[in-house]
Amino acid sequence: MKKIVIAIDGFSSCGKSTMAKDLAKEIGYTYIDTGAMYRAVTLYSLENGIIADNKIDGERLKSEIDKIKIGFKNNPNTGKPETYLNEINVETEIRKMEVANWVSPIATIGFVRHALVALQQKMGKEKGIVMDGRDIGTVVFPNAELKIFVTASPEIRAQRRVDELKSKGEKVSFEEVLENVKTRDHIDSTRKESPLKQAPDAIVLDNSEMTIAEQKAWLLVQYKKAVGE
Ligand code: C5P
Repeated sequence: MKKIVIAIDGFSSCGKSTMAKDLAKEIGYTYIDTGAMYRAVTLYSLENGIIADNKIDGERLKSEIDKIKIGFKNNPNTGKPETYLNEINVETEIRKMEVANWVSPIATIGFVRHALVALQQKMGKEKGIVMDGRDIGTVVFPNAELKIFVTASPEIRAQRRVDELKSKGEKVSFEEVLENVKTRDHIDSTRKESPLKQAPDAIVLDNSEMTIAEQKAWLLVQYKKAVGE
């Protein structure tokens, strides 16, 4: 069967990665979480003093960007890929609130985007990938055979993120997470470099009222249509 590129874009915390991961597993594709890549650059910046005194040292980040090696390896216990930064597993660290608070400003920086987009294009060269992010269907793979744009209300997205963070033992308030979701929406949609926007040929999914199982089934139908099954 022909292999395609599946681009899943949309707002923060709307369950893109859950859908994308499940679909990839089911159809034997590689899942690539591009948000994790921006988060890894952010974690590197926090750990190395590039983010300090409430600001980002852009010059230093530029001089070190080639030293930041990001990759994914499958966790054999879960069957799902996890993020590695310079050969260290950072899957848990990159999901923390401190990273969430800095990732959108980091993702507005042109040279960061150019480096990560080039890496994403390389990862998807052979097709057979499900990639999720903000600019996959518009910038990274504008010719993707299947493009989905996911959205849900900010309150529902914040509640989902609160549940996820609490299940991992992080203490967060609904208000704090809602504020972060709204701020990231704003920065992501209004930035100059490849802002979050729906590709004209994307299929929109508002999953506010859908269960994970319903989303999964819906996405599989879209995939089958796209490959002509
Ligand atoms: O998907 P996730 O919420 O983990 O993404 C974290 C942040 O990374 C987003 O809020 C956005 O600022 C940035 N991002 C991006 N382009 C992508 C993926 C993520 O700018 N393709």
